[in-house]
Amino acid sequence: MRLYIHFGFLLLAVICSSRVDASQVTFGSLCSGNSSNRKRECDKHGCGQYGAGRGSRKHMGLDIVCADGATVYAPFDVKLNGKAVPYTENNAINDGISLSGEGLCFKLFYIKPDRYSGTLKKGQKIGSLLPMQSVYPGITSHVHVQMCDKSDPTPYF
Ligand SMILES: [Zn+2]
Repeated sequence: MRLYIHFGFLLLAVICSSRVDASQVTFGSLCSGNSSNRKRECDKHGCGQYGAGRGSRKHMGLDIVCADGATVYAPFDVKLNGKAVPYTENNAINDGISLSGEGLCFKLFYIKPDRYSGTLKKGQKIGSLLPMQSVYPGITSHVHVQMCDKSDPTPYF
């Protein structure tokens, strides 16, 4: 009897550990010229980490360095789930896309996607970074990564 109980626990452990664990997902390179997904540090417009101050609000995403006009890549196999914008008032960088893949739902802001639906394989082009310098002169231009539930994306980088 004791043997069966032990076997049962062993089986349970194997089943649990073989499930897809989204917490172990790592983003592949998001932007041309930044193969290591280097994060935006602080500049005169603010800091790039999750939770950084934005006036009375908080930064609910993580900023990955990316030059204006650079190519933005799928960080893993993804599904494109439509347009997602950062601002209620329009400006030159008010575009982006909602994505899902690897059990995650997230948004990328400040990019002009080539399209807003369909699927892409890891490393394929999503679009291009919009002209951030024209809106925030002197900022470290970047892609803003935000989870759909506004949780911290940093563990995936
Ligand atoms: Zn940001």
